Amino acid sequence: MYRIERVHAREVFDSRGKPTVEVEVTCAGARLGRAIVPCGASTGKFEAVELRDGDDERLDGTGVLQAVANVRGEIASAIIGMDAADQRQIDHQLCELDGTENKSRLGANAILGVSLATAYAAAEAKGVQLVEHLGDIWRECRESRVESRQTDRAADVQSSASLSTLNSQHSTLGHGPLLPLPMVNMISGGRHAGDNIEFQDFLVLPVGATSYRQALDWIVTVYRRLGALLCDRGYEGVLVGDEGGYGPKLSSNEEAVELVIAAIEAAGLKPGADAMIGLDVASTEFYADGTYHLAENGGRRLSSDGMIDLLADWVNRYPIISIEDGLAEDDWDGWKHLTERLGDRVQLIGDDLFVTNSQRLQQGIDTGTANSVLVKLNQIGTLWETLQTIRLALKNGYLPVVSARSGETEDATIADLVVATGAGQIKVGSIVRSERLAKYNQLLRLEEQLEGAKYIGRSVFASFSAN
Ligand code: PGA
Ligand code: ZN
Repeated sequence: MYRIERVHAREVFDSRGKPTVEVEVTCAGARLGRAIVPCGASTGKFEAVELRDGDDERLDGTGVLQAVANVRGEIASAIIGMDAADQRQIDHQLCELDGTENKSRLGANAILGVSLATAYAAAEAKGVQLVEHLGDIWRECRESRVESRQTDRAADVQSSASLSTLNSQHSTLGHGPLLPLPMVNMISGGRHAGDNIEFQDFLVLPVGATSYRQALDWIVTVYRRLGALLCDRGYEGVLVGDEGGYGPKLSSNEEAVELVIAAIEAAGLKPGADAMIGLDVASTEFYADGTYHLAENGGRRLSSDGMIDLLADWVNRYPIISIEDGLAEDDWDGWKHLTERLGDRVQLIGDDLFVTNSQRLQQGIDTGTANSVLVKLNQIGTLWETLQTIRLALKNGYLPVVSARSGETEDATIADLVVATGAGQIKVGSIVRSERLAKYNQLLRLEEQLEGAKYIGRSVFASFSAN
């Protein structure tokens, strides 16, 4: 038993200069555990609620002083004296205390800060690294029955899951420590780069690397070559978006794909064999009245089928292995068609569609929609619920991709989380800016320290025929 003695919170700022919640939890006789909550821009409407003060007199209403007060007051009173190592119980208590479906009373930002800082505090108290403690919690989650907050259906499916039955296609996935394939943003669009082009991320996946370190070496080289290529073509090769990807005003979304492929080649790598392409279309952002609105070629309006045709055409012509939010969060019919058309060839990730919520993911599983889920802690609001979503995904052959937000900080929890759970993939943004490198560098440390931990590389996509 590692008794929680102190819970503290303060308002700090994220990588966009937006206020966010930092929480400190201290156990008896141990150093404090600290965590900072990230923040999205292209947020899904089904995400847990981030509490903002709404006081126009201060920071345009974006302050989080109320969330901070909730941590210092009500939440602290409820969890002081509890066992910091019992993450399941802590997170259950936080959900009960809040009492709403979407954490809108106390704020998902307040709750997640406490949930994560508690994990850090427990690791400190146990005298182990966070990755080791998260590994313990993950094992407990894999073996446990599911709480009543989830749908009965999800409970049925999960209660029968055991360590050995998690994802039959992959012997390694779900079994940490495992170094993930990074999915790295090269060109940014949409909300993250002033709406220069519509699609949000054009990513490189170093599938052919044999170690995580080699993967990063390749990525850094591709990023540099891309900067030079952009300059050669008369574009800005230095200005970057929120996640560090270049943010040039290109003539079309497709030009971004062509440029990234040219950069892979310029780095001396073979597109398809060494490095593949990923997209985060973030299409909810340009979906209105049942139509997808693109500005290119003087303006195009595409139906769901039109978008699917466009993506299928790209998959035929380019080494694309992963597409996130190819269709909008409400377009379930379209998503199903997209999955029927491309689901056996490429990874189709639901981000805004699933919002790390096991009930929404269960709906996807039941209807054969998508084959992968983006995992963002603050979309659901506690560590334990996040682990449950990873488990549900793996149990049903869906690939989990642990992800940062566009608003980030020096907090690198997700690096330890992806390794500890063996989730297999991580998406942090580009390979510049310290809020991104905090995660990539932590993974380098873990690769060095966890001798024998494998880099998953291409094998994560073993089930796809385009690979
Ligand atoms: P967000 O972007 O953090 O702004 O939501 C990340 C993503 O869409 O994957
Ligand atoms: Zn996304």
